[in-house]
Amino acid sequence: MTKQNTRFILFSLAIAGFFGGAALISQPTPIVLAETPDMQEKEKTDSIENLVTATLANGCFWCTEAVFRELKGVHSAISGYSGGRSKDPTYKEVSTGLTGHAEVIQVKYDPQEISFEELLEVFWKTHDPTTLNQQGADVGTQYRSAVFYHNDEQRRLAEEYKQKLDDSGAFSNPIVTEITKFDSFYPAEDYHQDYFALNHREPYCRRVIQPKLKKFRNVFHDKLKTRKEIAAMEETEAEAKNPDEVDWKNVNWKAKLTREQYHVTTEAGTERPFKNEYWDNKKPGLYKCVRCGLPLYSSETKYESGTGWPSFFKPIDVKNVTEHSDRSFFSVRTEIRCARCDAHLGHVFDDGPQPTGLRYCMNSAALNFQKAEKPAQEKEPAETP
Ligand SMILES: [Zn+2]
Repeated sequence: MTKQNTRFILFSLAIAGFFGGAALISQPTPIVLAETPDMQEKEKTDSIENLVTATLANGCFWCTEAVFRELKGVHSAISGYSGGRSKDPTYKEVSTGLTGHAEVIQVKYDPQEISFEELLEVFWKTHDPTTLNQQGADVGTQYRSAVFYHNDEQRRLAEEYKQKLDDSGAFSNPIVTEITKFDSFYPAEDYHQDYFALNHREPYCRRVIQPKLKKFRNVFHDKLKTRKEIAAMEETEAEAKNPDEVDWKNVNWKAKLTREQYHVTTEAGTERPFKNEYWDNKKPGLYKCVRCGLPLYSSETKYESGTGWPSFFKPIDVKNVTEHSDRSFFSVRTEIRCARCDAHLGHVFDDGPQPTGLRYCMNSAALNFQKAEKPAQEKEPAETP
């Protein structure tokens, strides 16, 4: 057993002893966001969905993601980079330790089910916050311990919790966790997402993540998703991998989508222009169906239509979308649906640019953007993230 492991176990025991497991944590209560004006826009999408965002760094994001995705109330945990200077960094750039980015996970959670304080408890109990720029064998500023707060309430809670931990004497050394205002989040390359779930047989997963996850499950057994919920989550993940075996007509979309996504794709709703996720997205990548994952549009055919919705002059393959006559709003328009799952996506008009002259006017809520893969030499993950 390494010194780090010993310390982790001692810490877990110490915390359990000091706080009786839950003394620091009150019942989950909705967090009232004390937003600054510049944050209001950023948080708008989330408030529509009733989900709140938290961005945390505590070492290797493969581990952090594996832990947080099992928590009840956590709807998604995405691995990425925050807190650095350069824009849209690659894994390779971040791993030099020179960009200032930390490996983080960005969690979207339902504050009715889990509070920010509970997330902080998990955060601090699953790493050693006293080693500067280091977690176990992972060394560098990219592995630093940090809370990137999204509003004043998160800042206050994080500072208070850190102080309480320091005062408790749970650690023999001072806590070095950085508490900084959130600035930007860049999702990591595809192969880093769900890394543990997809690669649990790999040596790093078995040696480092597996034991960590086991301890986490023991300590937080009452905060975990039920077996049924995990099965449902895994089912969703499996569906994405074997799309041909799914009975798309009978999927319970209400349970799987946010209210906005459901309204658009299932009730043929229209989201607000300029207030949606991708209308202004200029990054290279693929736009997939938010329900079934079928690739629909490429950034290469996206253009600025001035409408405030993501617009494309053609789909990736005409076979991936279907056209339907839409007679609502006293006119005849051509509705566009996903050819695989029949999700409503938007409409097509004939006032687009060449070479097609078409404008596929889509709803961001019906799409899921996947950033372009990095060049081949950067694709192979290193031994540790
Ligand atoms: Zn679809």
